[in-house]
Amino acid sequence: MKNKPLHKDTVVIHEGYDDKQHHGSLAVPLYQTSTYSFENAVQGEKRFSGEEAGNIYSRLGNPTVQVLEDRIAALENGAGALAFGSGMAAVSSVLVHLTKSGDHILCSRGIYGCTFGLLGLMEDKYQITHSLISMTTEEEIERSIKPETVCIYVETPINPTMELVDLQAVVNVAKRHGLKVVVDNTFTSPYLQNPIDIGADFVLHSATKYINGHGDVIAGLLVGKDAEEIQTLRMTVQKDYGAIMSPFDAWLLIRGLKTLPVRMEKHTSNAEKLLTYLKSQKLVESIYYPFDEGNPQFEIAKRQMRAGGGLISFTVKGGKESAQLFMDKLSLIKIAVSLGDAETLIQHPSTMTHSGVPVEDREQMGITDSLLRLSVGLEYADDLIDDLESAFAALEQHSTTHS
Ligand SMILES: *Cc1c(COP(=O)(O)O)cnc(C)c1O
Repeated sequence: MKNKPLHKDTVVIHEGYDDKQHHGSLAVPLYQTSTYSFENAVQGEKRFSGEEAGNIYSRLGNPTVQVLEDRIAALENGAGALAFGSGMAAVSSVLVHLTKSGDHILCSRGIYGCTFGLLGLMEDKYQITHSLISMTTEEEIERSIKPETVCIYVETPINPTMELVDLQAVVNVAKRHGLKVVVDNTFTSPYLQNPIDIGADFVLHSATKYINGHGDVIAGLLVGKDAEEIQTLRMTVQKDYGAIMSPFDAWLLIRGLKTLPVRMEKHTSNAEKLLTYLKSQKLVESIYYPFDEGNPQFEIAKRQMRAGGGLISFTVKGGKESAQLFMDKLSLIKIAVSLGDAETLIQHPSTMTHSGVPVEDREQMGITDSLLRLSVGLEYADDLIDDLESAFAALEQHSTTHS
């Protein structure tokens, strides 16, 4: 049993923690401390010089946070991980680590709004440029590489259209050009997709979403395939920019992470039931879900994802007015951004998460006024379907009385 790597279902519960070293405490203790005392002056000297491993100060490392870092590294098949105060802190830290003034970042089109904002900031202040491309073929990726390109930054599935980037194609091109590959894996969680297995160098998560799963923490995680590089990042960008995770948030995340596998199974099975239901609705125009027979990218999905996950986007007939009316007629399903919580959430990308994207870009990305995004939660599927049913009935009535 010792030599066999543990399955993900076991890793989320046991990795990186030995209760015998903590008075038999079965739950990982919360080390709510800012500093650590040294046994003597020489030990302090050795900890600072790196000659002796051990705690110094909680911005440089904390035992509770360490358990979470070890678990996420094991789940993503990486060699090391760092915990951050938000998903955006993980994004900005890895990009600051990989770039210098004058460099270029090649990105998948449709990245998270604040990542887009960060890239604008980097361009304005440090002349670090970027291009946004669809990344569907190796040729297209190859064509977009410039002499100053240093990394490829990818999100897949893309929010909110659920379009996929072919990770193998990205890795193949990156290898030929010696570029680092960073994947924002928030939408699938480490349970459904592991980009390091395909050849990515870094994987990051907004742990606010599926990893925590309970909607009560803002946090980020970054996993690297090279342990030394993660250690460098810890002792440079993370230490000096200081965007660390608090021990309490790590403690909550350790608790949330334990149920990630069972939650992802249920998110997926609920999403599949809602998908079947939505397909039967005549007021629904199009549906976007990675594991859908009708999805032209189904083959890519099957190659790099284990299942479809909990996010479904769809369009309703009648544009913005219908979309907003539909949302207002829901009661169990909450109108909220974010995703990956136990509660089912619905949002309207064109007026909410993507309202800052210029209209032409939005239209090019397929984010129309009739598009809605559902983060399917963990409730009983038929209760969710009943809620959707009453909203569709109201919409139907509205369209007959107004036509
Ligand atoms: C939420 C999110 C982020 C940002 O994470 P925060 O924890 O809110 O800082 C980044 N990428 C994706 C895909 C997200 O959904």
